[in-house]
Amino acid sequence: MVDLLDLRNVSVQYETDSGTVYAVNDLNLSIGKKETLGLVGETGAGKTTTALAIMQLIQDPPGKITSGEILLEGQDLMNVKEKDMFNIRGNKISMIFQDPMTSLNPIMTVGDQIKEVIELHQDLSKEETIAKAEEMLELVGIQKERLNDYPHQFSGGMKQRVVIAMALACNPELIIADEPTTALDVTIQAQVLELMKELKDKYDTSMILITHDLGVVAEICDYVSVIYAGTIVEHASVEDLYNEPLHPYTRGLFDSIPSADEDVDKLKVIPGTTPDPSDLPTGCRFHPRCKHCMEICKYKFPEFREARPGHYVACHLYNEEGVENLDQQ
Ligand code: SF4
Repeated sequence: MVDLLDLRNVSVQYETDSGTVYAVNDLNLSIGKKETLGLVGETGAGKTTTALAIMQLIQDPPGKITSGEILLEGQDLMNVKEKDMFNIRGNKISMIFQDPMTSLNPIMTVGDQIKEVIELHQDLSKEETIAKAEEMLELVGIQKERLNDYPHQFSGGMKQRVVIAMALACNPELIIADEPTTALDVTIQAQVLELMKELKDKYDTSMILITHDLGVVAEICDYVSVIYAGTIVEHASVEDLYNEPLHPYTRGLFDSIPSADEDVDKLKVIPGTTPDPSDLPTGCRFHPRCKHCMEICKYKFPEFREARPGHYVACHLYNEEGVENLDQQ
């Protein structure tokens, strides 16, 4: 499968009064056409910064993409001028932000907001723009008569549907959805996920779904990349990752999911907290929290290798043949 988007050794840093924040570090990630990739990790792991880097929306200063390539169908977005990037955003890549309350303008009708996206990116007449906005609203299950309503007249789930309609209005090739259901209650989350899945299949859109929720990934994704301290530590198909998580961090994420069959007093947690991105540990970034930590883990950054066919992991537990060296612990 030809990659639609390919991130190679991308690093993003922020200069702050208290020092340099290493938000994304030598990150590699790719997604093919029509695929859905889940980007999973804890808060502060660098998920949103990765999305903003792809969109070329890192605010400089204080942020900067310090190295790497971001290839969209072979074109490095790092070398694209801002006026051309303006056309790529919306037409080729769209983003759905976490909280529809903050991504919609409270003083504009939802119709005007959908129309604005269409006007900025497509050369349509006024009538065609209105018809397209109505079509998009109906597509996400909202009656077109509500085009003149304001965001406060919609529920949280409906607002997120409006945001999805805006993201799809120009039929982009890739949607980056940053925790699109986190701000919604559980039943609405399921409806919105189902809608996203339907629309993605209908339009053959690729999607990067940013989430901390492995349940959401299982629901909708083809592949998963697990991110820790700004670096991908594991990548596999959803099936392979759920059948055999290899990285101790990924295993910790699975272990911390409550089981419906087990009656336990306390949920399992990964000890410690995510590292301070301005003071990252040496060697494997996960070593202070890892129960399998070996001497080598403290000083040598583990290579990202294919431990099983199509299943990659960055961990010293796995040798070149992908054999787990648990006797080394
Ligand atoms: Fe744990 Fe070492 Fe693997 Fe890091 S490299 S996850 S510290 S075993």
